[in-house]
Amino acid sequence: MNDYLENLDRALEKIPEIKGTGERFVVPEPKLLTEGKTIVLDNFRIIADKLNRDPEHLFKFLLKELGTSGKIDGSRVIFHGKFTTGVMTELINSYVNDYVTCSECGRPDTHLIKTERILTLRCDACGGHRPVARRQASGIAKIVTIAEGETYEVRIEAKGSRGDGIAKKEKFTIYVPGTSKGDIVSVKIKKITGNLAFADLVAKK
Ligand SMILES: [Zn+2]
Repeated sequence: MNDYLENLDRALEKIPEIKGTGERFVVPEPKLLTEGKTIVLDNFRIIADKLNRDPEHLFKFLLKELGTSGKIDGSRVIFHGKFTTGVMTELINSYVNDYVTCSECGRPDTHLIKTERILTLRCDACGGHRPVARRQASGIAKIVTIAEGETYEVRIEAKGSRGDGIAKKEKFTIYVPGTSKGDIVSVKIKKITGNLAFADLVAKK
């Protein structure tokens, strides 16, 4: 077994490093800042440049998906409303799938061409092309409807094993200490982990 592992180590050492043209395509993680009632996508321009797409096109896509208004402010974008980094990451990934990645070879070296009214994604690497038919918003932004630091009104539906009240909102299970089944309460979300949220009781109705 040890021999096997040593051989494997040696074999892995021999794999040449991929450099230059093999550079991995990494979409920058969105940096969000909260400013009053708006959310700023601080590295918007960096993302658009990395994707090699018209910033205006990406901007309009995001507005439509988020169902909100906003404006481009230099290298960043200001959106009204609240949403999480997770949502923004999902939306950008969705944009990359629809408008950037070649469906033939999977590479991002593509460009968009508009002929008449049809938008086509053409691949510079393999020559593949496909029409891009984008329709209504994907609904991604609506999946996550709660955000840390925000206050929501919920109904406590059950008691957890540790005595906390449990509420449900969309896909989230929210734990609220100091509440009982049947309470209608407003709660402030402290932390979200996956589908679980932990909240403080703000007021009982
Ligand atoms: Zn291709």
